[in-house]
Amino acid sequence: MRKKIVAGNWKMNKTLQEGVALAKELKEALAADAPNCDVVICTPFIHLASVAAEIEGSVIGLGAENCADKASGAYTGEVSAAMVESTGAKYVILGHSERRAYYHETPEILKEKINLALENNLKVIFCIGEVLEEREEGRQNDVVKAQLEGSLFDLTAEQYKNIILAYEPVWAIGTGKTATADQAEEMHAFIRSVIAEKFGNEAAEETSILYGGSCKPGNAKEIFAKANVDGGLIGGAALKVADFKGIIDAWK
Ligand code: PEP
Repeated sequence: MRKKIVAGNWKMNKTLQEGVALAKELKEALAADAPNCDVVICTPFIHLASVAAEIEGSVIGLGAENCADKASGAYTGEVSAAMVESTGAKYVILGHSERRAYYHETPEILKEKINLALENNLKVIFCIGEVLEEREEGRQNDVVKAQLEGSLFDLTAEQYKNIILAYEPVWAIGTGKTATADQAEEMHAFIRSVIAEKFGNEAAEETSILYGGSCKPGNAKEIFAKANVDGGLIGGAALKVADFKGIIDAWK
């Protein structure tokens, strides 16, 4: 059975102190009322070690929002996958549309990042999704398939087991516009079929595919009820425990 996961992406929000306080509040809320799914928080690099200490022994998994496409060396300002792993983090988000759009991350760069993340025992939450224009032109399936092919199709079956997918239509991220549950299901089923063609039915059935894009307590239950939706990657609503917990509770 594939895992149900709700993962938070804090993006560039919260000071260190605010982030540790948020993690503590979430830890306490989930200790009082255990979740029915895996819960992950992905934080800015500087929060990782302190948040890892705060959530130790809890049900919460920790991830980074990015890692470098180089192993080590003279790359001022970069943070390697090995450094991420050394904080206690177990996950890394790669391919987020904000990184593709604002930092020009190409499928080739993402391939390097994925390889390094996997070499350092991190599970990769790999984001894919079309922009509005591509959807309006009916090209969303081609775009998403190309994103999968461009960064994942050189992986071995063994490496692929550590990939979690997140379908995030770019037009729904931070806009308040959510894909309908049917739109999400249609794309998730397509993604699973692409994975089945490449890695086989069993690998496809085992792949957790998360939905991301203005997911909130009010719409999570309907989206998560779809057969091919295995949880959510949550941006804005991950910054308030009540909202994030409301989404986690959609699995109950
Ligand atoms: C995201 O950035 O991964 C995301 C889904 O953001 P939001 O929930 O704010 O739309």
